[in-house]
Amino acid sequence: MAEHEPLTPLSTSQKEMLEEAVSTYQAHLTAETAAYLMSRGIGRDEAIAFRLGIVADPAPGHEKYRGMLAIPYLGRDGQPLTVRFRCLQEHNHRDYFHGKYNTIKDDIPRMFNVGAVHRAGEQIHVTEGELDAIILNKLGLHAVAIPGANMWFGRHRRMLAGFNRVWTWADPDDAGAELTGKITRALRSAKAVRLKADVTDTYMAHGVEHLLSLVQKKED
Ligand SMILES: [Zn+2]
Repeated sequence: MAEHEPLTPLSTSQKEMLEEAVSTYQAHLTAETAAYLMSRGIGRDEAIAFRLGIVADPAPGHEKYRGMLAIPYLGRDGQPLTVRFRCLQEHNHRDYFHGKYNTIKDDIPRMFNVGAVHRAGEQIHVTEGELDAIILNKLGLHAVAIPGANMWFGRHRRMLAGFNRVWTWADPDDAGAELTGKITRALRSAKAVRLKADVTDTYMAHGVEHLLSLVQKKED
């Protein structure tokens, strides 16, 4: 897809189908999944606000995501625009013909938690993982997620161009460096947060104050 290609709005039937799918997945969130999310720092309030769910009863076209964590990409009013799926099994995902994270085929790459762009003040935060963005939002930082360098498009740059500071919180690995490189090259306001582990692991190991200090100190 060309970078300048505009986002095609979802049709009414697509919107209704997505809304029904996401509501169903939310209703099927199990205690086991809630415990998993808690172990990743995500409590009940966040799970509800971000409309997380489990694909126990897949919507048409979602059959291959059965059993996975459903992570809806919500619009500014909380309506789902797409869903990504995270496999919760500890196995080699490729042996099962899927990835750890799965995007619906031919779906338009979107920014996760786009509402943060509208709610944020002068600063905004960009993570690589959706669940990492949920953690930062829980801590009071307005955060979106771009799940990989190949999901970063020109329109994302335009959406973030008005901020004085765009903090990037990509994972400390090659893929994360690639995403950070793309964003910092595209936006002069972008600044990378140095992490020794991903946002969630850093939060679970060192807590809120440590995570916040990573962006507060650097403003001096
Ligand atoms: Zn899997």
